[in-house]
Amino acid sequence: MQEEIVIIGAGQAGAQMAQSLRQGGFEGPLRLIGDEPHPPYQRPPLSKKFLAGDIGAEGLWLRPPAFFSTNNIDLIPNTRVVAIDRAAKRLNLENGSTLSYGKLVLATGTYARRLPLAGADKQGVVTLRSIADVDAIRESLKACNRLAIIGAGYIGLEVAAVARALGKEVSVIEAQDRVMKRVVSETVSSFFATLHLSHGIDLRLNTGIECLQGESAVSGVKLTTGEVIPAELVLIAVGAEPNDQLAAEAGLDVDNGVLVDGCGQTSDPDIYAVGDCTRFYSNRYKRSVRMESVQNAIDQAKIAAQSLLGEDVDYDPLPWFWSDQYDIKLQIAGLSEGYDTTVVTGSPESHKFYVAYLKENQLIAVDSINAARSHMMARRVIGETWRDGLLPEA
Ligand code: FAD
Repeated sequence: MQEEIVIIGAGQAGAQMAQSLRQGGFEGPLRLIGDEPHPPYQRPPLSKKFLAGDIGAEGLWLRPPAFFSTNNIDLIPNTRVVAIDRAAKRLNLENGSTLSYGKLVLATGTYARRLPLAGADKQGVVTLRSIADVDAIRESLKACNRLAIIGAGYIGLEVAAVARALGKEVSVIEAQDRVMKRVVSETVSSFFATLHLSHGIDLRLNTGIECLQGESAVSGVKLTTGEVIPAELVLIAVGAEPNDQLAAEAGLDVDNGVLVDGCGQTSDPDIYAVGDCTRFYSNRYKRSVRMESVQNAIDQAKIAAQSLLGEDVDYDPLPWFWSDQYDIKLQIAGLSEGYDTTVVTGSPESHKFYVAYLKENQLIAVDSINAARSHMMARRVIGETWRDGLLPEA
């Protein structure tokens, strides 16, 4: 009989890992343990359609509930793993019980980064990572009129768009001089800033925060200028940190993410890790990377499953990502870091264009705005030598 595989974390990567193992012919015992009450679900709609109320929780499920029993995958919800005993190959669960494993897969994802800000512990100060978070935010939004969002990254801007459509007064406060600065060029930042301003968002760039004000509940955000932005709800959307504590405490190699090789294997040959919680060396980018995307969760899990089943694999993906804000779809192919030239095709005014990023005449990334064909094409051609006119009209 094949030895038991246990996956910790029933999210995007964990669910994919379980499915790929079964599809790849693994017939041994397979457990998928998650600390949330739900079956594995997609997170991208949390800050989009689910927050807007356009879809219910069932619309988030990654697989139909029967999928797990049909495929003989023992899905164990509401269960948190608190320690890994590598010598005994045993897990300690929060409920006091233990579980043994033959091979272990960590798919523990990330948690929302908090800010060391005075007042951040007040009622009405929230982060967004899970269904439970959105349920609470939706409930608060019903009773409040003014929302302040700290951080103009994807999640902050997506929530701003939804809240505005719900008729709320929304302020977005960003320390940097432009929105989504970490991931897109000035052209794209400027397009999205204009978009949000045109929808009535109070966008504050280059803005520092002194503290969050209020008695037990938050009532406003005090800026370093002394100005107070009134808000009954404050969303902190300043990025995420990897859930790598379990791995670190078990003595695995960890460096802002569980370190894995191109097979998804950690420093312990019996333990793999996949998805947002991992960091790996990318030959493509000549540095270690930690990715937070559906693409990475799915592709890395597929590769690691193949490796667990004995295949020779090496993971070095072309990353891609998307974000929906109002009626605009931003799709990103590749990482644009280090570009020396940008080429804009189409016009931002028409809300349909793309920006190609080149480094030493090589196409390295493309941001497509309402230009899905360019995005798909970009994913195919990046890595080949850039030639003028290789991409289609926006
Ligand atoms: P997760 O999906 O986070 O799953 C990890 C699971 O492990 C969680 O359920 C967690 O509770 C559980 N867990 C952690 N520790 C333990 C433990 N000790 N015991 C048991 N269970 C544990 N990506 C895109 O590509 N496009 C988007 O538009 C996009 N939008 C997003 C919007 C939001 C609001 C968020 C939060 C994320 C978004 N992402 C998007 C990112 C994407 O959702 C993640 O990259 C993806 O979910 C990563 O999958 P994962 O399985 O690694 O982690």
